[in-house]
Amino acid sequence: MSLQQNDGTIYEAIRKEQQRQLQTLELIASENFVSGDVLEAMGSVMTNKYAEGYPGKRYYGGCEFVDVAEQTAIDRLKKLFGASYANVQPHSGAQANFAVFFALLQPGDKVMGMNLSHGGHLTHGSPVSVSGKWFEVVSYGVREDTQLIDYDELEALAKKERPKLIIAGTSAYPRKIDFARFREIADGVGAKFMVDMAHIAGLVAAGLHPSPVPYADVVTSTTHKTLRGPRGGIILTNDEDIYKAINKSVFPGIQGGPLMHIIAAKAVAFNEALQQSFKAYAQQVIDNAAALGEALKQEGATLVSGGTDNHIVLLDLRPWDLTGKAAEKLLEEAGITVNKNTIPFDPQSPFVTSGIRMGTAALTTRGMKQDEMERIGKVIADVLKSQGDEEVLKQAKAATKAICEGYPLFQQAVTV
Ligand code: PLP
Repeated sequence: MSLQQNDGTIYEAIRKEQQRQLQTLELIASENFVSGDVLEAMGSVMTNKYAEGYPGKRYYGGCEFVDVAEQTAIDRLKKLFGASYANVQPHSGAQANFAVFFALLQPGDKVMGMNLSHGGHLTHGSPVSVSGKWFEVVSYGVREDTQLIDYDELEALAKKERPKLIIAGTSAYPRKIDFARFREIADGVGAKFMVDMAHIAGLVAAGLHPSPVPYADVVTSTTHKTLRGPRGGIILTNDEDIYKAINKSVFPGIQGGPLMHIIAAKAVAFNEALQQSFKAYAQQVIDNAAALGEALKQEGATLVSGGTDNHIVLLDLRPWDLTGKAAEKLLEEAGITVNKNTIPFDPQSPFVTSGIRMGTAALTTRGMKQDEMERIGKVIADVLKSQGDEEVLKQAKAATKAICEGYPLFQQAVTV
């Protein structure tokens, strides 16, 4: 109770955030709810410890217990993805990507990444990111007719441009990615191949999306999306030389002391992901996305690429004459949290957009299944077709509340 007494402002912000998470339907594709054990490790005294270096080779004394946490995280992560080497120190997914760039590239080198507005990530070469400012970027995208990655076009582009690094991985692509084909293309032009599996890491861990680990020179990820760990990044590789270069580039290259409380929490999450129950969760994430997409289609919605193979449903709102910005706001009023998102060849700016992105990981963790997805799909469609009608929004809000009440959260969590 001391936070409540000593810092009422932050106590209240946390309490209200907890209520918000409890009382709304969380459909942001990059979010999830961590377990009480992960929260406990994150909120532990390990945050007090400086541990520059790596287990057994630190620049500070007193590291015997944080060494246990980090080595455990590394071992569990390697087992989870079948990789030979792992670095668990990146503070975030962006940091993990920059560590790879710092290890494998020189400023001015040519990099090929997926166009942000076609589903790529900012750190894969967007002009507003350091990745776009320091490297010569060639972007690939999806075909306009199928909204799928066109591997033949990608190959032709790689042959023409001969990049030093090809990046696969997406933030808003609802379909499976063919890592074997990417590898062939990279080999054909002598490029290194990196996969950023941030969004799908939980599905890969469960064996429900082909793994990039056997194909890529290096794999990065966040730990907090479908993988359901604390916020953070990781790097995997099967190449010893790349591993050594990555370790140097994470520390002392781009980071100082590792966040030991987060690393401890990563270890807890990796152990959770190694359990049989995680496979059932990941399968349900996929089944739920399929059910949500189908329910929306029944209501006349247009899905980018026509459907989904993973946790993401990307809605093209143009047929309903709505922007992503307006849709996000309307749904928020009904207690449903999504984010506006560009769709391929979007005529709107990234701040307005023509789409919304939804993901089913968080609601699946909450225990929801296909029945709820069908109900939620109908509510979303009602709201988006309502043109802001007060009565429809009121009914949608009541429906959202009723669904949330059936699925309590934070039962075992350390909460205020
Ligand atoms: N890579 C991909 C594919 C992502 O989707 C994201 C985040 O959304 C990141 C990297 C960046 O992760 P972070 O926000 O932890 O820096």
